Amino acid sequence: MIESIKFLPNYYKMKIHPCSYILFLLLFTCQGFTNALKSQPILNKDTVLNLSKDVNDSITIHYIGCSGFFIKKGKSAVLIDPYFSYTNANTYFSGALTNKSNIPVDLKNLIESVFLHVIGDSLDRSGSIKTLLITHGHYDHYGDVPYLYHSGHLNKDTIKIIGNNTVQGYLGEVQIADRNIIKPVESSVSTPSIEGKWIYVDPKIRILPVLTEHAPNLKILGININFVPKNHEQENTRHKYWREYAMGQTLCYLIDFLNDDGSINFRTYINSAASNFPYGFPAQVILNQHPVDVTLLCVASFNNVKNYPEDIVKYLKPKHIIACHWEDFLNSSIPELKKKPKTVPGTNVAVFFKRLDKVLSDLNSGISFTLPNVNTTIKFFYSNKKLEK
Ligand SMILES: [Zn+2]
Repeated sequence: MIESIKFLPNYYKMKIHPCSYILFLLLFTCQGFTNALKSQPILNKDTVLNLSKDVNDSITIHYIGCSGFFIKKGKSAVLIDPYFSYTNANTYFSGALTNKSNIPVDLKNLIESVFLHVIGDSLDRSGSIKTLLITHGHYDHYGDVPYLYHSGHLNKDTIKIIGNNTVQGYLGEVQIADRNIIKPVESSVSTPSIEGKWIYVDPKIRILPVLTEHAPNLKILGININFVPKNHEQENTRHKYWREYAMGQTLCYLIDFLNDDGSINFRTYINSAASNFPYGFPAQVILNQHPVDVTLLCVASFNNVKNYPEDIVKYLKPKHIIACHWEDFLNSSIPELKKKPKTVPGTNVAVFFKRLDKVLSDLNSGISFTLPNVNTTIKFFYSNKKLEK
């Protein structure tokens, strides 16, 4: 384990106070706390966007919801934090992981329709999804993975799953084969001072984990509260209830799609939890090799950490930002949100966009952003020609 992993913030070590469970139920089952988006347009229909004037290449990014994405280039795809269940907050004490025996028919149909829409098959029979990236062990990032694996949405012959040690423990406990799990991951992380080690999941796709932290779910009078507070699992355990799944080391990922000659064609960065510098910041030398084309940026709990999203946006300077994890995944479902978008309780999403707008206008570098609704596809056209130096 690298040195910097030892410097986890103190709130990870906090024992959760029983009152916070009550607070959780009050906050997260109360629709009245959901603030409306007033000025920010929501992308509700599949859309095409150009990242440059001249274009000669394309990539498709599909927002599932929470921090769940498909990124598809040609016939190859990367899947990140796939979460379709939107398990209701009132099942905090009783809800379990999604599996073949408890999945409702409408949820099963929804998952099949999304896979069909994005990869052209309701199950990944051809092995087009080269890798599944899990950013941390919380239910809304990991909870549907056992179902997706055992139902054939992930191809057992080809899929490579990347997640932290705690997540790897969970994967083993739900009979996901060792050959499908890439180990270790934490020792490959990039930080501002450590370059990190790329993980090749395909000759033309590589992944770089980036060390990050997870914003507290709530901050009251300066006290950080995490509803699922354990950082690392002591042993590989299969829990009964979704609230019990510990997150382990939270990771961001840089995802490179490569050209035939190994050069970088397109670069994406995913951040599934708001964080302070230096957490979530890859080494500058990595960014010097190729800038980030599209950043997938978490909105939830942004106000519980300092200078977010300003610092990370200034550091990465991507061409485009897709805001994610902004919708009410605790009191709703993907089909309901598609019809009537609602923001995540406890986060003032309108303020996030006000601050994002401000930092982008200060930077004055033409960075654009979108706020997609759940289950929405954006096809980006761009130029893969290298700039003359
Ligand atoms: Zn989380």
